[in-house]
Amino acid sequence: MQFYLATSFIFPRSLRFRLFALCFATTHLPLLGYIGWGVATGRFAWAEFIVLTLATMAGAAGALLGIGALLNPIHALADALHPAEEKERKRASPTLPEASDIIARLFSGVRRAATATQTQIDALNAAAHEDALTGIANRRGFLAQIDTLPVTRRRGCIAIIDIDHFKQVNDQLGHEAGDRLLADFAARLSSQTRRIDIVGRWGGEEFAIFYQDAIEDEASWSLARIAERMRQEPVGAVHGQPVTFSAGLCAWRGGPVTDAIDMADDALYHAKRSGRDRIQRAARPSASAYG
Ligand code: GH3
Ligand code: MG
Ligand code: MG
Repeated sequence: MQFYLATSFIFPRSLRFRLFALCFATTHLPLLGYIGWGVATGRFAWAEFIVLTLATMAGAAGALLGIGALLNPIHALADALHPAEEKERKRASPTLPEASDIIARLFSGVRRAATATQTQIDALNAAAHEDALTGIANRRGFLAQIDTLPVTRRRGCIAIIDIDHFKQVNDQLGHEAGDRLLADFAARLSSQTRRIDIVGRWGGEEFAIFYQDAIEDEASWSLARIAERMRQEPVGAVHGQPVTFSAGLCAWRGGPVTDAIDMADDALYHAKRSGRDRIQRAARPSASAYG
């Protein structure tokens, strides 16, 4: 591209002419060298000069024809990439040689295609990390968001939350109402946590929260506030009773986050066994081998 720009002073509006000029000059170098040498040494031979001139002309003609033929498909491609633009350009200046800046337009075409592809990849990536029903991160997105955090921020508390007797919600109110309840519950978790916390749908009627930089007491209070709101303003009710949730909580002080998640999950199991609608802390924090 640098050479392309550096040679733009020769026929700036025509790449084809620019190539022809460069080709003509370079194929004549041997002939010019011979003339210079002959004049300098006085050993100029007309027979050699004529043969060399004919050979140079034949070589230059062959090179020019070859370049012209090689450029034709590029013109066709430029026309295909920008048909309207190309028609307009030809109409505006019919005498100008066609495709004045083919390479630049090819570059812009390739760049546009790359941008469009990147946009599609970004959209697919976002979809792969988002739960379609609730709009919050799915399990993969939740873990990916934690993964992107710097090491110093990878500590706090992990909560695994499971809605109690959710099967009854589906059975009593129908699957669609169950879906709505899940979406409302996800929105409630998001609205009642801080911006730096990460909320995700772990799967089914289970959710996960990473309370960044929070101690167990703070995370526990947050969950208790959410539970209280579930009682005051239920997201749904079965047999006249507000829907509740159980949660397992584990402090995470380094090491793989999956260890903390497993320990929070064990604590959740105990919360369920102990009667549901409660928050159970893990027996100990999850920490790295060096922590
Ligand atoms: P527990 O208190 O022990 O957690 O009981 P539970 O009924 O909540 O748990 P269980 O695992 O028996 O049932 C979970 C139900 O959640 C079963 C499944 O059909 C329902 N479920 C999972 N994903 C969805 C969903 O996306 N939409 C709806 N409507 N229901 C779902
Ligand atoms: Mg469950
Ligand atoms: Mg459940």
